[in-house]
Amino acid sequence: MHIQIQCCGIVLMLVLFYFYARQKRIALETQRAFLGVFWASFFCIAFDIFSILVIQYRHVLSEPFAKFIAKTYLVTLLGVAVSALAYIYVDMYEKRDDYWHDMRRYLVLGAVGVAGTYAVPLYYNYAPDGIEVLYTYGPSVYVTYGVSLVFFVRIFYLIRKEKARINPRRREAVCIWLVAWIVASQIQFMYTDILIVGYAGSIGIMVLYLKLENPETNLDRSTGLFNSGALYQYTKQLFAKEKDFSALVLIFENNTYQNVHMEKREAIKMEVIEYLLKLQNCLVFKNAEDETYILFTDPACAQAKVEEIRGRFASGWGEDGASRIRPHWMYVPHANVIDRAESLTYLVRYIRQEEKAFSENTFYCVEKESVDRMYRKREVEQLIIDAVDNDRVEVFYQPIFSTSEQHITSAEALVRIRDREGKIVPPGVFIDTAEESGMILKLGEIVFEKVCRFIRKHPLERFGMHYIEVNLSVVQCAYENLAQDYIGIMERYSVDPEYINLEITESASTNAKKTLLGNMENLMEYGVRFSLDDFGTGQSNLNYIVEMPVDIVKFDRSMTNSYFENGKAKYVMEAAIHMIHGMNLEIVSEGIETKEQFQTMEDLGISHIQGYYFSKPLPEDEFVAFLESKKAEFL
Ligand code: C2E
Ligand code: MG
Ligand code: MG
Repeated sequence: MHIQIQCCGIVLMLVLFYFYARQKRIALETQRAFLGVFWASFFCIAFDIFSILVIQYRHVLSEPFAKFIAKTYLVTLLGVAVSALAYIYVDMYEKRDDYWHDMRRYLVLGAVGVAGTYAVPLYYNYAPDGIEVLYTYGPSVYVTYGVSLVFFVRIFYLIRKEKARINPRRREAVCIWLVAWIVASQIQFMYTDILIVGYAGSIGIMVLYLKLENPETNLDRSTGLFNSGALYQYTKQLFAKEKDFSALVLIFENNTYQNVHMEKREAIKMEVIEYLLKLQNCLVFKNAEDETYILFTDPACAQAKVEEIRGRFASGWGEDGASRIRPHWMYVPHANVIDRAESLTYLVRYIRQEEKAFSENTFYCVEKESVDRMYRKREVEQLIIDAVDNDRVEVFYQPIFSTSEQHITSAEALVRIRDREGKIVPPGVFIDTAEESGMILKLGEIVFEKVCRFIRKHPLERFGMHYIEVNLSVVQCAYENLAQDYIGIMERYSVDPEYINLEITESASTNAKKTLLGNMENLMEYGVRFSLDDFGTGQSNLNYIVEMPVDIVKFDRSMTNSYFENGKAKYVMEAAIHMIHGMNLEIVSEGIETKEQFQTMEDLGISHIQGYYFSKPLPEDEFVAFLESKKAEFL
């Protein structure tokens, strides 16, 4: 009898199961499917051994019984094939209905295979002495192998074709497992006395276990709580099942422990973890940030549980219960207001960063409005990423008229994004978000490159123009490599720096100001000039002009508008013009829409006028056509 190898396989699987069962686990569908594969493989090996024994003693136990058991062994092989496919489908389909839609067909095939295996004959092949059975063959075996083959082909097809929908580690592990089976069955086919298929199956299961089904991979090493990967998988499953749940998020920052003596902190942290680990009727996850998520799958009972947890934190920690710690609390009463798993951590991050009320309150209950705001912001982020990736960032140009030269001598480059439908999105929609996410660095660079390309293609002198103004965001100004990058771009396009004028605005922090000054110094040395944009919108603009080495000051539209609407504002503007001229700087007046406004500004001695009176910002082609039409004015 050759059952030693199979017995080794059984022992290996029992050891694996021992480790598996001891671990703390969450009820993930994929883990359930893995258990399906595990038990199918286990019974397969067990029946392999059993059938060998029964066949050996078939004279005592009866021939039909021996054949029945041998066929049952074949049926367990089909079980392995079915469970393997189910394991792949669970990963592929989030929705139960989709899963069953595909799986149903294969279950029917499996059932046909089982019926066929039992219905048709099975034969033994004897050893030369005619006593010992070497292996089984006949229609029953062929039915099993034929049906199993369909399953394996389907699995390999899915692994190859559905790459995006199956976890790559799972694809790899299933591949190793199936290849082990196939190689072993080939060896067994050629050398009939080496019965290694069962053992190869158990090795395959070990690979699956070690590569992705070890529940330990779902645990945070330092605390033993579930980790962020588990949080993602579990919430993904809840969303797929369209189940509502509540989430209490505890945020532990350094200031959480500020009232606790340094020496006691570690002990208190351990006590808190111990408490969280013992919480009942909920699952507790910790991510790499400082956030702990407590999920309640029954939102009706969640409120009471949340109060209980808050009460525990209020009652103090440490041996004497005197240490009070204050984590930030965020509560999402109905997480189904979110659309999918990724959005939960995104929402928490968004609220931490953006919602002012969060830091003021110690207990922040997330309302639907916050979720909507988060989605709008994410939509805009996506819009920017999409536009950057698909070359849908465009530059419009708005002409600037020189009162001394009496024609268009410069223009401001203004960014636009084209959405998927081809509609133009103005910067007011996305600049703030681009600044917050850091995407403005990329966006600014794209705009600058396009401007340089434009200057290269259309030499400005041809139209009597001197330079193009390009906006710089405060985030760009505070970026250490800005000067280096922009000089690199000008060099790449062989653009003379005298054609470039960069518009800066007031920086909030002194640190950012220092970096900006460094950047300005390098760029000015190279030959670039600067303007101060948005004058008249801040409070300390006058000081800023003194400190910043700019050549031009741009009056914001709100300032020029109030000149015409408000008697007192007139004096402020006139005084500002006087001072700025005194500093030998030029002025651009923005937002000039009518002839009267233009006339007034000209009479005030303002050197440059920008506004709809001349033109709205125009796409590149239209701007060139506009300049062509005005060519006569300066020739
Ligand atoms: P800004 O730099 O002060 O640009 C002037 C804005 O006033 C432009 O709006 C322009 O279309 C608008 N404008 C000019 N004349 C008139 C007028 O007569 N009437 C009215 N109603 N509006 C006028 P836009 O293009 O929507 O840009 C808004 C802001 O977005 C800009 O203000 C600037 O701060 C920012 N921005 C635009 N392009 C860029 C860019 O490439 N990078 C960065 N960082 N910011 C940009
Ligand atoms: Mg500007
Ligand atoms: Mg401006």
